[in-house]
Amino acid sequence: MTKRGDKFLNSLKDGRKVWLEGQAVDDLPGHPAFQGTLKTISALFDLLDDPHRQDEVGYFLPSTGRYAHSSFLVPNAQEDILTRSKAFTCWAKETNGIMSRLSDYGRSMITGWYADREEIGKRDQGFQAKIEKYYESARDNDLFLTTAILDPQIDRSRELSDERIAERFLHVVKESSEGIIVRGAKMIATGAPYTHDFIIFSFLQLKKENKEHSHVLVVPANSKGLHIVCRESFADSRDEEHILSSRYEEMDAVLFFDDVLIPWERVLLYGDSESVLSLRNNKTANSLAFHQTVVRSVAKLEFVTGLAFAISESIGVTGYLHIQEKLGELLTQVETMRALVIASETKAAQNTSGVWVPEISFIDTARNIGTKAYPRAIEILQQVGGGGFVQTPSGMEDFYGPISKFMHLYFEGASVSAEKKVKLFKLAWDLIGSPLGSRHELYERFYAGDPVRSYANQYLNANKSSYTDQIWKLLQETSKG
Ligand SMILES: Cc1cc2nc3c(=O)[nH]c(=O)nc-3n(C[C@H](O)[C@H](O)[C@H](O)COP(=O)(O)OP(=O)(O)OC[C@H]3O[C@@H](n4cnc5c(N)ncnc54)[C@H](O)[C@@H]3O)c2cc1C
Repeated sequence: MTKRGDKFLNSLKDGRKVWLEGQAVDDLPGHPAFQGTLKTISALFDLLDDPHRQDEVGYFLPSTGRYAHSSFLVPNAQEDILTRSKAFTCWAKETNGIMSRLSDYGRSMITGWYADREEIGKRDQGFQAKIEKYYESARDNDLFLTTAILDPQIDRSRELSDERIAERFLHVVKESSEGIIVRGAKMIATGAPYTHDFIIFSFLQLKKENKEHSHVLVVPANSKGLHIVCRESFADSRDEEHILSSRYEEMDAVLFFDDVLIPWERVLLYGDSESVLSLRNNKTANSLAFHQTVVRSVAKLEFVTGLAFAISESIGVTGYLHIQEKLGELLTQVETMRALVIASETKAAQNTSGVWVPEISFIDTARNIGTKAYPRAIEILQQVGGGGFVQTPSGMEDFYGPISKFMHLYFEGASVSAEKKVKLFKLAWDLIGSPLGSRHELYERFYAGDPVRSYANQYLNANKSSYTDQIWKLLQETSKG
């Protein structure tokens, strides 16, 4: 039987149009920009067939007689949340927290919509049957999913009333018996070149009159007329020099829709701005999907913390108070995030459809904190390692050439050999100084949306009187009147 990893790789030869450096990439698994990453993903997929690991990432599905990834598990009991969490942790740890869009996020969103289908279906008659069919197919075929929600960054001060904006944002140009034809662009879709389907909806607060822009779609990556336009690749095949860039480069892309037909069964919602907004704000789907993001965030902060510890040990600075303070700060960050994940799981509750969902307020808090925690963790890593990150030779070859004796002498560390120390600093540089590393800092600042507005939303959505009541009460007690 073909293993799931291989099946995934083979499935990418489906006629999709992936553009990189002006060329259409036909053989994704064979291309240097994608090879390492696809090998990593393929190995993650294989875990579901490994009798020793499959319980970590999946759950047995009697209807198919095989394991499905736990991101598809509808939580009918609180333990199911923990099963999901275990799977997210597994893939996150396997990739040192670096890979964030391994499809478990997108799959969770679909699972949330499916779990809440009756409630959502009250607003749109066709939704329920469509999401049932799609969810089952995605689960049973191990579909890789990603989201593309933002509209192109043309002029953020303009709205859909401006024609220049309206015609570029994804919109319906024609309806037919087969489906709708859409035109426009979407950004940013991480993992776009190797996804099976894109989950598409708008980030805008659409109005009633924006019918053509009001839709929720699941678009196959090989749709005719769809162009997946990649940014520059940050992949580096030199595993010893760039461990992270050689394995974990998640490509980001912009999507151009040149009159793409979306069959009706893939049009989950269309035409009603309120239904679209309501689905976007669906608490079940958001809780299940955002839960994955914070579980992954813990794994990433643990990795940075481990790196900072190893670096400070390797150069003998752990005895200094200010280094200890900074390493302690990293631990505080990790434990805060971990506690928020545990709180969200412990305080999980059943929604009106009877589905268990993690408590989203803790998840939102973790996502907001994460936008500042990760850049700070990287800053600490730099402060701890100092100039060591650029005091590494260009290649490990120097350890085996004419200057080998000096390499071992002058690159030696406090507690590790010269070779090990150089490898360690190269690993850290891949996170703080490489193009992949810089992209990660940007990712953590923005992946959950604009952090300014996300923090503001936390205030706007809060139960404010639960904070202010005590103030007014205290003033009342002391007033003479
Ligand atoms: C590496 C990376 C990967 C990503 N991957 C994905 C993905 O897989 N799927 C996906 O859907 N999205 C993804 N995103 C997109 C992400 O959701 C957006 O970057 C984020 O929501 C911010 O939107 P924007 O980039 O358009 O910035 P903008 O909204 O254009 O913001 C730019 C600046 O302008 C300010 N600004 C803009 N509009 C306003 C306003 N109305 N009021 C006040 N201030 C404003 C912002 O505060 C910010 O400082 C990714 C982003 C990054 C960086």
